[in-house]
Amino acid sequence: MDKTALVCGAGGFIGSHLVSRLKGEGYWVRGVDLKYPEFCETVADDFVIGDLRDQYICRHVTDRKFDEVYQLAADMGGAGYIFTGEHDADVMHNSATINLNMLDACHKRNIRKIFYSSSACIYPEYNQMDPDNPKCSEDSAYPAKPDSEYGWEKLFSERLYLSYQRNHGLEIRIARFHNIFGPEGSWNDGREKAPAALCRKIAWAEDGGEIEIWGDGKQTRSFLYIDECLEGIRRLVGSDFIGPVNIGSEEMVTINQLADMIMGIAGKKLRIKHIHGPLGVRGRNSDNRLISKKLEWQPSQPLAEGLRKTYSWIESMVNNKRQA
Ligand code: NAD
Repeated sequence: MDKTALVCGAGGFIGSHLVSRLKGEGYWVRGVDLKYPEFCETVADDFVIGDLRDQYICRHVTDRKFDEVYQLAADMGGAGYIFTGEHDADVMHNSATINLNMLDACHKRNIRKIFYSSSACIYPEYNQMDPDNPKCSEDSAYPAKPDSEYGWEKLFSERLYLSYQRNHGLEIRIARFHNIFGPEGSWNDGREKAPAALCRKIAWAEDGGEIEIWGDGKQTRSFLYIDECLEGIRRLVGSDFIGPVNIGSEEMVTINQLADMIMGIAGKKLRIKHIHGPLGVRGRNSDNRLISKKLEWQPSQPLAEGLRKTYSWIESMVNNKRQA
C-alpha cells in the first residue's frame, strides 16, 4: 500500500514543491489550499480548494487515513507583508485558527503524525541586534521576544502542537524554516522575500541602471534553497526527533552582498539606492548544530547555486511580463 500524506498549504510555494517531492517518493497525496499553485499544475492525487479556518473543511479533508500530515498553511509573506504592522490581526487570527482547527481535526480522526512549519521569526529580537553575530540556536527561543506578530503566532502554535503531543500522544515534528527560496514562489505580489524581490528588480533593470534596497543593506540573513528544505523536512518526519529544529543555511550574507551575487549571475552592474522600508531584525543566521547532530543534515550546495536557478526562473517571468 502507498503511504498517504495530506499537505495543507499545497497551493503555496513550499507546499507545492513538497507535494511533488512526496509524489516522487511514491506517496498518495491530497493537497488543500485556498488556491491552486500559481506557477505549475499540482501533481497531487486529490486537491481540495478550501479554507482551513473553517472547522468543517478541516474535518472534511481528514476524512480518510493519512500516514502523515504536513501543516504549511499560513497567512504569511516577506518583510513587506509581515513587518509593516498592517496585517497583524489577519496573520494572528488566520494562522492560529488554521492550526487550532487542523490539529483538533487530526486528533479526532486519530491521525497521528503531523509536521508543523514554524519559523526563524520566533527567535528573540534581543539576540539578533548584531548583524555579525546573531544567535538562533533552538534553545535561545526563550525568554521569548519575537519582533513580529507572525513570530508570536508561530511560537504559540509550536506550543499548541507540543501540547497535543504531550496530552494526546500525537507524533509532532516541528521545523523552524530560515528564509526558503526558489523558483515558483511569490515574486511580485507583495509577499515576496528578499531573494525573489532582488532577482525581479535586477531582471527588470537595464545594465548600468539602479535598483532600490530597503534599509542600508548591511542587515544579514541566510537563505536556503527549496530542495534542501524538502530534504530537511523529509529527514525530520522520517526520524523520531520532535524538534523544534532549525532548517536553514549557515551561509550568512548581507543584503548588499546578496544583491551583488545576483548581479553577478545576471551579468549586470547596477547602482544600489538605499531607501526607507520594513526591515526586521539586524542579523539572522541558522544554527545547524542540532540538526547536524540529530539528522545528519546540512545544505548540500552553496547559496549561489540556488540563486542561479531562482534568477533564471524569475528572469523568464519578467520577460513574459515585458512581452505581455
Ligand atoms: P505560501 O504563502 O506560499 O504558502 C502558504 C499557503 O497557505 C498559501 O498557498 C495560502 O493560500 C495557504 N493558506 C493561507 N490561508 C489559508 C487558509 N485559511 N486555508 C487554506 N490555505 C490557506 O508560503 P510558503 O513560503 O510556502 O510557507 C509555507 C509555510 O512555511 C508557512 O507556514 C510559513 O509560515 C512557513 N515558513 C516559510 C518560510 C519561507 O521562507 N518561505 C520561512 C519560515 C516559515
